[in-house]
Amino acid sequence: MISPVLPAYARAPLSFVEGQGSWLTEESGERYLDLGAGIAVNALGHAHPALVKVVEEQARRLWHTSNLYRVPKQEELAQKLVDLTFADTVFFGNSGTEAMECAIKMARIYFAGSDTPERHRLITFDGSFHGRTIAAISAVGTEKLTKGFGPMLPGFDQASFGDIASVEAVVGPETAGVIVEPIQGEGGIRSAPEGFLRDLRELCDRHGILLIMDEIQTGVARTGKLFAHEWSGVTPDIMTVAKGIGGGFPLGACLATEDAARGMTAGTHGSTYGGNPMACAVGSAVIDTVSNPEFLAEVSRTAGRFRQGLEALVASHPDVFESVRGEGLMIGVVCRAPNMDVVNAGYGEHVLTVPAGENVMRILPPLNITADEVDEALTRLDKAATAVETAA
Ligand SMILES: *Cc1c(COP(=O)(O)O)cnc(C)c1O
Repeated sequence: MISPVLPAYARAPLSFVEGQGSWLTEESGERYLDLGAGIAVNALGHAHPALVKVVEEQARRLWHTSNLYRVPKQEELAQKLVDLTFADTVFFGNSGTEAMECAIKMARIYFAGSDTPERHRLITFDGSFHGRTIAAISAVGTEKLTKGFGPMLPGFDQASFGDIASVEAVVGPETAGVIVEPIQGEGGIRSAPEGFLRDLRELCDRHGILLIMDEIQTGVARTGKLFAHEWSGVTPDIMTVAKGIGGGFPLGACLATEDAARGMTAGTHGSTYGGNPMACAVGSAVIDTVSNPEFLAEVSRTAGRFRQGLEALVASHPDVFESVRGEGLMIGVVCRAPNMDVVNAGYGEHVLTVPAGENVMRILPPLNITADEVDEALTRLDKAATAVETAA
């Protein structure tokens, strides 16, 4: 008999009922060190006092009014994002995949009224992930996501991540833009090679097409910059953000330059919940906290400590681990043993990590994880690796 909850996930047999900072408490009462942060969502950990305060205050004042009216909390958060980034304007939704929908529609309508209305195709990369709507799975096109859900939405072409010649090879007169993750998350913490984002920017400018960056996982201070593309020195025309920006409250955003957003006039797009006062109050508190230069510097310091410890861990378990990669607190440990074996052994040691493509174990802890907790995490991961060796 089917379970009351649609069985669309393969879930670990863990049920968490409470969280505090980097720690989660299971129904059994046992505590787990959380290095997954709800897949890069709980950017400030669990029950952060500043976020609890904002939610409590906003809950007493106003939850929702719809986008029929001006939403001051939404305007406030949009202004913060505009001040802190390349963007001039922001559309709010409730998730990453909705932010991608907005980006895809924005890129298509951008050319609809132009002298090249035939431009509607978007280029994506092997190993990418942009969410689970029909548009987002069509964009990526891999069988793992699309099987059984056809027909797919037309208008997407694939290129090889990191290979600018492969992008040049698929750009045509119908191309409207390129969608890229600065670091592929689900794909296995694959960083764009040095110069790749710059080359993409140059290619897009030369062809008069849009550069769209998916920073849903890489953004909101995850890599030690507010957004990961800042490391590259170039900016996109459109950027999608979600996960960390709500700190656990559902919130997504599509940011754009004034030019890129030119087609999105009143009535072209919408969302009932999107950017409601509750979500935006929390989003503003998260952005205020993580955009502080001292906070960003601390993310990099913590990341350096974690990275160093993980390099040592890899060296002492050569049969389990191969290498460490990523940027800031978006870390991938490439495994030699099956990554799920390592993640499961971690559960045994009460430490939570997240599997990803290319046999990678992802480490995406709360950005404010302490140095002591990093050391504790390394101890537990060492025990987990030993357990994998012993079982082999
Ligand atoms: C998680 C993720 C998405 C999808 O976000 P949802 O909130 O699950 O819809 C899209 N792109 C990237 C890079 C992601 O990591």
